[in-house]
Amino acid sequence: MNYDEFFQSSLDDLRTGGNYRVFADLERYVQTFPRARNHRDGKVHDITIWCSNDYLGMGVSDTVTTAMKEAIDRCGGGAGGTRNISGTNHYHVLLEQELASWHNKDAALLFSSGYVANMTALMTLGAKVPGMVLFSDALNHNSMIEGIRHSRAPRHVWKHNDYDDLHRQLSQYDRETPKLVIFESVYSMDGDIAPLEKIVEVAEHHNAMTYLDEVHAVGMYGESGSGVAERDGVVDRIDIIQGTMGKAIGVVGGYVAAKHSVVDFIRSFGAGFIFTTSMPPTVAAGACASVRYLREHNELRIRHQERAATLKARMKALGLPAMPSVSHIVPLLVGDAALCKQASDMLLEKHDIYVQPINYPTVPKGTERLRFTATPLHTDADIDHLCTALVDVWETLGLRREALAAE
Ligand SMILES: *Cc1c(COP(=O)(O)O)cnc(C)c1O
Repeated sequence: MNYDEFFQSSLDDLRTGGNYRVFADLERYVQTFPRARNHRDGKVHDITIWCSNDYLGMGVSDTVTTAMKEAIDRCGGGAGGTRNISGTNHYHVLLEQELASWHNKDAALLFSSGYVANMTALMTLGAKVPGMVLFSDALNHNSMIEGIRHSRAPRHVWKHNDYDDLHRQLSQYDRETPKLVIFESVYSMDGDIAPLEKIVEVAEHHNAMTYLDEVHAVGMYGESGSGVAERDGVVDRIDIIQGTMGKAIGVVGGYVAAKHSVVDFIRSFGAGFIFTTSMPPTVAAGACASVRYLREHNELRIRHQERAATLKARMKALGLPAMPSVSHIVPLLVGDAALCKQASDMLLEKHDIYVQPINYPTVPKGTERLRFTATPLHTDADIDHLCTALVDVWETLGLRREALAAE
């Protein structure tokens, strides 16, 4: 085999389809976020970031940077081992306690990332609970799909957010069969939110456990910010809550929170937890400070929702095809991979606005989109600038605008 030829031609196929990924080379700044520098074509450009998952700007906050600086001076760079072999730092223990209490669970367990948390927890439960059957929402994130796949447990995919379909599929099994219902709260590409209470009701009816990915909700929903389960009053009816520290918390790392027995089981049997160096103490310290802050500052969430709502309203008023979203996510439909990439390039090169195109396979073909996230740090002037630029790009590329509602 000519290896190089194979690799090159596979990559060429991606380029032809408009799906080849090019990373923006950024310098994010503590003082100026969402303004940043973009290294491009040998030059440096000042740009505004409009697609960060640091939804609340916590990653650039004093709260987080101070905690991380203190921790690095006390405990140094790396943790020095796996959790079992000298790598459990007191900061890890404090963070796990903080996360457990935030989600009103007995215990929590840290992982390198949200991806590893999903992969490891689902693989462990699917593979090590005898007879376990998994029920996965059709739009679940790749990290859950991979965990489910690698567990080799029998699996059923239920229609997205459709609790009647879930009910039908669960009905094939008796109450004694171990079952796990796996879903998300906020789906980050469309910005829709699952009907948690209905799903929980169905799961309880069939004696199934529930596993909820709150990655796009932790820090952002509920009075203390622990997620949609808190907002909807169903925290105590969800068996396992999974989250990330890489998005609204502003650092990196993942976790699950659940009953002692469940957490201890994953801790004791989960390969992706056991056989890897634990996160740096600085990261745990930063995340812990961030969670403590977020629990106390609901006003940040109110401001965040207001910014997202304002952006959606401005787009609609201009006839820009903002997709229906009940969350903080603002997706704008383009509907074609090449045009989506062109729109993103033009926003960056002509208007100093950075938003990544979202193409297949992340979203279905024909629904390619730009996905905007407004943080509490985006000003009215930033929103004006963005909307003016979008109208220019939409006109230049001949993209579809909607009839104005007011007419
Ligand atoms: C981003 C994401 C993850 C992975 O979290 P990381 O901490 O970034 O690895 C898991 N689930 C969903 C739904 C996500 O969007």
